[in-house]
Amino acid sequence: MAKDIFVYIDHFQGEALPASWEAVGAARSLAESLGGDVAAILVGENVGDLAEQAIQYGADKALHVEDASLADFRPEPFSSIVAKIASDADVLLMPTSGRTRELAAMVGVDLDTGVIPDVIEMDTADGAIMAIRPIYAGKLLSKVTIPVNRPQILTLRSRAFPKPEPDSNRSGAVEGVEVEIEQPVTEVTGYGETEAGVSLSDAAVIVSGGRGTANNPDLEPPADITDEKEQEIWRAQQGFKLIGELADVLGGAVGASRAAVDAGYIPYSHQVGQTGKVVSPDLYIAAGISGAIQHLAGMRTAKTIVAINKDPDAPIFKLARFGVVGDLFDVLPPLTEELKNR
Ligand SMILES: Cc1cc2nc3c(=O)[nH]c(=O)nc-3n(C[C@H](O)[C@H](O)[C@H](O)COP(=O)(O)OP(=O)(O)OC[C@H]3O[C@@H](n4cnc5c(N)ncnc54)[C@H](O)[C@@H]3O)c2cc1C
Repeated sequence: MAKDIFVYIDHFQGEALPASWEAVGAARSLAESLGGDVAAILVGENVGDLAEQAIQYGADKALHVEDASLADFRPEPFSSIVAKIASDADVLLMPTSGRTRELAAMVGVDLDTGVIPDVIEMDTADGAIMAIRPIYAGKLLSKVTIPVNRPQILTLRSRAFPKPEPDSNRSGAVEGVEVEIEQPVTEVTGYGETEAGVSLSDAAVIVSGGRGTANNPDLEPPADITDEKEQEIWRAQQGFKLIGELADVLGGAVGASRAAVDAGYIPYSHQVGQTGKVVSPDLYIAAGISGAIQHLAGMRTAKTIVAINKDPDAPIFKLARFGVVGDLFDVLPPLTEELKNR
């Protein structure tokens, strides 16, 4: 029997996460093997344009719920709307993001079903879906087979599935849906850098720095910085400047280890790892990062890993495809210069 495959289009103030379109592409592949239509769900204020884009990326129809009270994401009203629209869905896909972690769980409760989070591969066999997801901080891959006989919710890791090319000639039904909207009990008063800055999850290239960024005793802090901790932070900032320059040349984003974040070298929004962002870039360059298991949990699915570390025994070299044993302050400037010249 043909299956109804729904995709929740996650967006930040009307701008879709690229992973939302990757999820539409994945839904299209499921529809091809299971049969059925792909329906995109959009919730927000002025999301009509996104609904049109969903059709271009491969949805057969796009259902949008619009209201001024939905301008900002809040889990309670969004989950009750998505659960109402997707109550007859066989499969509901979402990109994995901070928002959908809450949303998927709450919709799962409303629809009395489970959630398979952070899927990196998906296939079908005999009408069932097989999903692969990392477990135990990425040390193992778990294969889950689910019969599609009740709503199944899966969230898909960003950049794990190909993003389809939009086709402006594609047509489909765009329908406004009227549903009762719960008034949110919370108020959004503003956004910090975490939400508005470069998205690590979508970056094809990430250059990350760790505690090693502060380790350059030859750098003399300005005379007015006398406190030892502040001197350390100042040194790390010089290290992160080199990291930022390399990231700029490669059109990438800047990541960091938790040690760097905890020490105040760089804001938390840059943290990669088990308790930070989970990323899958094409290229991940780790400079001055030892390669603790909690860091690896966030980047081990990167396609190519390059490590720069003074210590030849640093665990990061076990995972890296290319390794440079050296001081990041010596290695990064000529590397950036060489790439600039190319
Ligand atoms: C529950 C829990 C959750 C955690 N979550 C995370 C997480 O999400 N992300 C994360 O990153 N960590 C996380 N951690 C912390 C993790 O265990 C490590 O402490 C942390 O990753 C270490 O960061 P680091 O590699 O920058 O520092 P270090 O381990 O101190 O390594 C610094 C490295 O820099 C090298 N180095 C020093 N100077 C230079 C130089 N000049 N040039 C080149 N190399 C140099 C050293 O050889 C060393 O290998 C978590 C820990 C716990 C307990």
